[in-house]
Amino acid sequence: MRTSEREQLRERLKRIEERITAACHRSNRKREDVKIIAVTKYVDAEVIGDLLDVGVSHIGENRVQDALPKYEQYGDQGTWHFIGHLQTNKVKDVVGRFTYIHSLDRLSLAEALNKRGKQLDCVVSCFLQLNISGEKTKFGLSPNDVLAFLRETSNMKHIRILGLMTMAPHVENPEETRTVFRQLAEWKERINQWDFAHATIEELSMGMSGDFEVAIEEGATYVRLGSILVKPDES
Ligand SMILES: *Cc1c(COP(=O)(O)O)cnc(C)c1O
Repeated sequence: MRTSEREQLRERLKRIEERITAACHRSNRKREDVKIIAVTKYVDAEVIGDLLDVGVSHIGENRVQDALPKYEQYGDQGTWHFIGHLQTNKVKDVVGRFTYIHSLDRLSLAEALNKRGKQLDCVVSCFLQLNISGEKTKFGLSPNDVLAFLRETSNMKHIRILGLMTMAPHVENPEETRTVFRQLAEWKERINQWDFAHATIEELSMGMSGDFEVAIEEGATYVRLGSILVKPDES
């Protein structure tokens, strides 16, 4: 039986809910406009079962190899988000399984996704990952390249870009991440003004365990929560 695991999860979720609600309140946003993606990369598949059981329906994984067996078990439940760096040779495993890909960050990946979408006769829903902070260690398209990227992908009929994603730098004080999140929100407005048919930005995927409240205050519609939700010793 996993009753106690589920109880612990419910308890953690309740505390997170309180914090999300407070952040929404502070920024005059509706609670239902912010969705939690449970990042399950640290844990076994059975925890995904627990999460689904307690009502968390968005599941995020960042490595294809680790995600596939979990998807085999629970892929018919919930909505699956691929949030990690994606190699083009893994695209075939991801498209058709994951509903959203948060890590579109380069032209070669757009081409591979578009090609796979065409093969499967579907349109792949993507988030454009931007490297706002400019850290060399981070993946993501440079903001300087966004316009060129959108022009170069505008004829790709099997991808659509419906969101932006970023990872903020690791800092002691989450307040320092605010400018990164604010800039991502500004990119949403800018891109939407350009009016590309394949890129209408509705979602902002930003904020993790250490900085989700600031991200919500700056407009996050998806927060990606790993350790705070599923890692008992760190919650
Ligand atoms: C691991 C990971 C997260 C979750 O990180 P936590 O700090 O544990 O909440 C979010 N987004 C991405 C892309 C990740 O790889």
